[in-house]
Amino acid sequence: PGHLYIVATPIGHLGDLSPRAQAVLGAVDRILAEDTRNSRALLAHFGIATRLGALHEHNESTASTPLVQELVAGASLALISDAGTPLVSDPGFVLVREARAAGVPVIAVPGPCAAIAALSVSGLPSDRFVFEGFLPAKAAARRARLQALAGEARTLVLYESSHRIVEAAADIGAVFGERSVCLARELTKLYEQSVVLAAHTLPAWLAEDAHRTRGEFVLLIAGTPDDDRTEHDGERVLRLLLRELP
Ligand code: SAM
Repeated sequence: PGHLYIVATPIGHLGDLSPRAQAVLGAVDRILAEDTRNSRALLAHFGIATRLGALHEHNESTASTPLVQELVAGASLALISDAGTPLVSDPGFVLVREARAAGVPVIAVPGPCAAIAALSVSGLPSDRFVFEGFLPAKAAARRARLQALAGEARTLVLYESSHRIVEAAADIGAVFGERSVCLARELTKLYEQSVVLAAHTLPAWLAEDAHRTRGEFVLLIAGTPDDDRTEHDGERVLRLLLRELP
């Protein structure tokens, strides 16, 4: 069989398309993209002339079977999404699962991912985190999801668009109160911004300047404080023993 390459593309800054990603995209038989118009512009910038095909949410289930047949017959394909790493809140899961089941080697060409980029600059605990992707669009379901996550000890990572950032911020403020939240917007772009503040102050911060509600967002919420869970056992024993010393 050929190879299926899962290739990460920039989340804003074009300089983040790795040399290896460029080489793979230039060498495969076809590139599968979410939005072929958007991807054509990216590929043109790098002088990559590889043929494009569509793989989006709506056709993934029906499109995967013939694609896997092509791979089995020897074609090599690369999957990209509009931005960042495919399969992370983006299509590709069905294709990868079917390709693996058919014995096709699936090769990662890693690179940008908004969730990881935001986590890496947030200053929130990064040793353990939970990626929750997008919150539900409807208010009642969104609040229920946040409530269900309120007791989580690990850092929560959420995606949000400009359409719902204000509503999401209000609900996060109400559920998480004093908890630290990092809002990271427009990462790697001209107006990149990231701030850490108490959850309940997030709505007021957004309201201060109209620019702050524009663009693409990652929201990170510190896990619930739990000294016993986060402190290393040795340190805890030492702290307890020191307390007893004269
Ligand atoms: N696959 C992508 C990845 O690896 O990050 C995510 C795709 S998802 C459909 C799009 C969401 O990712 C946006 O709504 C936003 O939450 C987040 N995102 C993408 N680019 C971003 C950026 N430059 N800055 C902040 N968030 C971004």
